[in-house]
Amino acid sequence: MAKRMLSEFESYDLLKQYGVPVPEHAIVKTPAEAGKAAEKIGFPVVMKIHSPQIVHKSDAGGVIVSISSKQAAEEAFNKIVANAKAYNPDAEIKGVIVEQQAAPGLELIIGGKTDPAFGKVLTFGMGGTLVELMKDVTLRILPITEETIRQMIREIHGYPMIQGYRGSKPRDEETLVKIMWAINCFFAENTNVVEFDINPVRLYESGACIVDARIFVD
Ligand code: ADP
Ligand code: MG
Repeated sequence: MAKRMLSEFESYDLLKQYGVPVPEHAIVKTPAEAGKAAEKIGFPVVMKIHSPQIVHKSDAGGVIVSISSKQAAEEAFNKIVANAKAYNPDAEIKGVIVEQQAAPGLELIIGGKTDPAFGKVLTFGMGGTLVELMKDVTLRILPITEETIRQMIREIHGYPMIQGYRGSKPRDEETLVKIMWAINCFFAENTNVVEFDINPVRLYESGACIVDARIFVD
C-alpha cells in the first residue's frame, strides 16, 4: 500500500498523546480565522501551509515566522496560500496552521524508518541546516531500552552542545531522554507508522518543544 503523510496537526496530536511537548496550534481556513486564532494563541506566532502534497513546507514558501499582529496574521494567510499555489498548482490547500512560536533552542532531530531487513530503526542527531550537512546522527534498531537512548544522546559529536560547552549552560538532557522514550513507544506501538521525521526538536536549559513533525503511515 502507498504510504500516506499525516498532516502536521495530526502528527502533533498523536505525539502529544505520548507526552511529547508540541506548540499550541489551530487550523484555519480564512484570513479572518487566522487573525482570531493568532490572537487567542498569543503573539508571536508561526503560520504554515497545510497541504497533503507539500512535504517540505519552507521550500514552498509555506512557513512564516515572527507574526506579531492580527493584521500580519491575516496577510500571512494570503501570502502562504499564494506561495503554495505557485509552488504546486495541483496541491490541495486544506488551510493554514497557526502555531505558538517556540523560543530559539538547540535544534535536534529525531526520526524513524522501517528497514526491509532490520525493521524499525530510530535515529537521533543534531539539527540545523549546517549540521545536517555533516550528518551527525546515530541510530538503533528497535526494540531499545532507556539506557540505549542515553547512549545515543552521548555518542553524537554534538553532545558537548547538550552538556554545556565553553560557558554555554547545559541543556535539559533528562527531558530529551523522556521525549525520545515517548517517541520510541509511539513508533513501536503504532505498527502502521513506517517513517517519521521530527525536525526540529528545540532543547532548552529547562524543557523542550518540537516545532515540526512528519509521520508517514501505511
Ligand atoms: P518544513 O516543512 O520546511 O520542515 P518547519 O515546520 O520545520 O517546515 O518550519 C521551518 C522552520 O521554521 C523550522 O525549522 C523552525 O526553525 C521554524 N519554525 C517552525 N515552526 C515553529 C514554531 N512553532 N516556533 C518556532 N519556530 C518554528
Ligand atoms: Mg522541518
